[in-house]
Amino acid sequence: MSKKQFKAESKRLLDLMINSIYTNKEIFLREIISNASDAIDKLCYLSLTDENVGLNRADFRIDVRADKDARTVTVKDNGIGMSMQECETNLGVIAKSGSGAFKAEMDSSKAEDLSIIGQFGVGFYSAFMVSDKVTVLTRKYGEEKGVKWESSGADGYTVTEIDRDEVGTEVIMHLKPDSEEEIYGSFLETWKLRALIKKYSDYVRWPIIMEVEHSESYETGEKNDDGTPKTAYRTVTREETINSMIPIWQRAKSEVTDEDCIAWYKEKHHDIKDPCALVRINAEGTVSYKAMLFVPGEEHGSQFYGETKGGITLYSNGVMIMEECDKLVHDYFEFVKGVVDSPDLSLNISRELLQHDRQLKIMGQNIEKRIKGELEKLMKEDRPKYEEFFRNYGVHIKCGVCDEYGRYKDFLRDLLIFYTSEDHQMTLKEYVEAMPESQKVIYYASSDSVKHALSLPQCEEVRSRGYEILCLTTPIDEMVLQALHDQDGKSFCNVVTDDLGFDTEEEKKAAEERNIENKELLDFVKESVGDAVSKVRLSRKLASQPCCLTTEGGLTLEMEKYFRRGPSPEMRNIRATRVLELNPEHKAFTALKGAFDNGEKDKARNMALILARLAELLAGAEIEDPAAFVGEVAELF
Ligand code: ADP
Repeated sequence: MSKKQFKAESKRLLDLMINSIYTNKEIFLREIISNASDAIDKLCYLSLTDENVGLNRADFRIDVRADKDARTVTVKDNGIGMSMQECETNLGVIAKSGSGAFKAEMDSSKAEDLSIIGQFGVGFYSAFMVSDKVTVLTRKYGEEKGVKWESSGADGYTVTEIDRDEVGTEVIMHLKPDSEEEIYGSFLETWKLRALIKKYSDYVRWPIIMEVEHSESYETGEKNDDGTPKTAYRTVTREETINSMIPIWQRAKSEVTDEDCIAWYKEKHHDIKDPCALVRINAEGTVSYKAMLFVPGEEHGSQFYGETKGGITLYSNGVMIMEECDKLVHDYFEFVKGVVDSPDLSLNISRELLQHDRQLKIMGQNIEKRIKGELEKLMKEDRPKYEEFFRNYGVHIKCGVCDEYGRYKDFLRDLLIFYTSEDHQMTLKEYVEAMPESQKVIYYASSDSVKHALSLPQCEEVRSRGYEILCLTTPIDEMVLQALHDQDGKSFCNVVTDDLGFDTEEEKKAAEERNIENKELLDFVKESVGDAVSKVRLSRKLASQPCCLTTEGGLTLEMEKYFRRGPSPEMRNIRATRVLELNPEHKAFTALKGAFDNGEKDKARNMALILARLAELLAGAEIEDPAAFVGEVAELF
């Protein structure tokens, strides 16, 4: 019997498989079982119109068997089988689907990076990752004779006609000898095969059956001293269906309650907390898919945006094709866990291809809309629970707003909430709706806590007019507002910036004149304080406090703090333009002016320094040199 050669391209792929250093070799079982399942689908379909098939739905099965002595793993199905010709065309060349796409990717990247293997449906060839010889015994439905196909790898294969009673296919994989890197023999262990079936093929529609050893007690026939029958234990093998076949998300919605889904989630993800949102989708149309998605009650992944592994597992008709898929939804929803199952997804899809997959894009968009809808519902119906959600995941939403130059800001803005007091949070929409008519802009104050933000001296005047202030307490908040630009046409205004929009033109002019009148004193203060501030002026917005620090230009003190933690020295050196504002109505100013006018320069300089430090303190900064500060204050007595 002469050996036939594989087509050149198949040969290269086979070489890769045989010499594969890829660690995820276990996927071979999934691939071979998927083929078996497809073959059964075909015969089952035929049986609907052809009564000669002689099999009922319940008769179809896939058997997985390990033979330790022969060192083989066998997957057997009673599906459609293959003719001699089909063995040659299907197993002798790379099928147009899975293996072909894999090879195309390998050729284009030129990389010998085998880590991508597992992401493809590499199909039948994957058997060679674990076997040094593969034997296929098969008989096609409707044919008299069977076929034996055999190959030990890249040097070719043989096909022979054989007698075979049953219709269907048996793939016998002769495992490679164990090496230092890989214990191929582990695939002969029942527990291991069982675990792999559970992991990858749990929802294959046909029963995957294994013979499993059990120990059972039996009566030996003898009697104990007390006359009771003597029992002993023996090992028996029993057939067991390993896979659960119908996944919970495939069952009709009416059959499965939300509680069932939540129980499934908790078991699957080892989470003791109930998820805070559940989304169940059964979509039919341009793209059909079923999805069952959860927002975990607590953050489990990384706190850093874009670093959490995707929590969504992709299935195609119950066959797992990708764990931790991070391409389906954007990073702002990376905390969502669950499953998406679509017959429109093929097994042979890679992470790279997924990104460009049109079907997947449509699916992802629909899924995001549904997740957002569910979160909005939660916000409306159970505000405390939504606030808890936002405490856990708000930073993802905020980063999402800033991501890609604000591309997703309008999709996400309604999910944002901000504190307006220590026990109250508002969406931007709610804020704008509650604005009195006289209020033209949205005020915000930044600090490390709500309490600190609201105690900024600049807040006093805003609040005295009955306007709310959004408290920004995380470093990214100001960038979020910058990315959003406005809410319903109302722009954002930082309370520490110069113009709060309250003054009329006349008032502004009068204030300007007052600054000019006091120019000599203000120049003196600036000179005393030095480079710590770039300007000193009289304030129009202070009520009870003697002074405050404001900024000019786009950069604020909070942003400066954020940059100070940045990765590069350039970033860390970014400084806001500081302006020291003095309250001309305050007795501190009167005292300063008195000392200056009296020619008590040292005393006036000292007061100026103290006021500058007080302004920093109020802005939330720390005193860099407490001893110097104490000295300056003590001087006054
Ligand atoms: P794919 O399944 O992606 O098409 P494979 O390399 O896994 O690629 O298989 C190639 C072809 O071989 C299949 O499309 C199918 O026609 C045939 N085949 C493989 N396994 C079986 C089987 N158990 N029964 C019948 N046909 C099979």
